[in-house]
Amino acid sequence: MTIFDKIRRTLQELGVSDAQGVESLFAELRKAAEHERAELVAGGAPQQAERDGLCKALRDRWLARKGGFLSQVDENWLKPASKELKPVVGKQFNKLRRFTASLEFEKLVEALPFQQETAPQMELPLGSGAGRPVPRDLTLPGLRRPLGSIHPVTRMQREIEDIFLRLGFWIESGPEIESTYYNFDALNIPESHPSRDDWDTLYIDSKTVLRTHTSPVQIRAMEKYGAPLYIIIPGKCYRHDNPDSTHSPMFHQIEGLAIDEDITFADLKGTLDFFAKMLFGEKVRTRFQPSFFPFTEPSGEVAVSCFVCDGQGCRVCKESGWIELMGCGMVHPQVLRNGGIDPEKYSGWAFGLGVDRFAMVKYDINDIQLFFQGDVRFLEQF
Ligand SMILES: [Zn+2]
Repeated sequence: MTIFDKIRRTLQELGVSDAQGVESLFAELRKAAEHERAELVAGGAPQQAERDGLCKALRDRWLARKGGFLSQVDENWLKPASKELKPVVGKQFNKLRRFTASLEFEKLVEALPFQQETAPQMELPLGSGAGRPVPRDLTLPGLRRPLGSIHPVTRMQREIEDIFLRLGFWIESGPEIESTYYNFDALNIPESHPSRDDWDTLYIDSKTVLRTHTSPVQIRAMEKYGAPLYIIIPGKCYRHDNPDSTHSPMFHQIEGLAIDEDITFADLKGTLDFFAKMLFGEKVRTRFQPSFFPFTEPSGEVAVSCFVCDGQGCRVCKESGWIELMGCGMVHPQVLRNGGIDPEKYSGWAFGLGVDRFAMVKYDINDIQLFFQGDVRFLEQF
């Protein structure tokens, strides 16, 4: 377990019960911070924009109020610490705060090597001072450029990707302009299915659509790689929806697909339960309810017990105690066949979730439109 896994768990869960254990955990964390800073400086970056982005990302990784390493330590180590351990954890936490502040992540932009200011040596006469930075008036104030930040939807997507990458899945992508064959027919969605109605689908022509889900990539990947197959498919999807606080004509999905010999519904349940615990905390429980999708059989809807109120009912879960996460199911044998995989030999499961909705739940955002309006005052908070 890396130190970054450890900060997602409580000290009790880690089996740390004395001052010495606490101190060595914090020492490990300080070492990691120092190491990441050193790596960034050593790597450098030729472009100003890239340098800004790298520094900001490092700062956010450690110091972001929501989800930064320090706030995770606060939430998972300090707050739930036992009465006996609290003083030592508090002391170490303050030490860590002072230490990360002293690393001055936000000033690293100035520390990174300026590669583009050094002229290539070959093109200049010898002895001309080639390769040295242009002399500058060091008394002039420096140019400060605002640092960008990672968009909340991208951040959510990466967080989800990371969990599945750790489980051995890889990331696959496909075209956003898709044929009706891949978007519908190959997924066992006949002409008569309601989602083929004009109202939901944006048609380019009678055989071409803006994909309505990331599922066509399932078929493309089956054709390309065959079985066994363990992939997740993040990407943009499009539907003919009027924009409101929960709908956007463009939205983001992540699809998961596992195909192998002897894959059962138990594998699906186990994987999604692990996923929910990694994303929302060890305490959450998952609930599976039967549902229907043309491309899976049986199909289900997964909900997770509310990570805010622990199922008691609150604003985030709309007083129900549960948060709907995604649809899932066992891949329909006909879909496997359409992808060129023998359903007698292989079976598989799949799920699909809305990344925007996940980000709304996780960051407590009540209007999906905020993601796409480009308002800096909103985006600055991430
Ligand atoms: Zn709740």
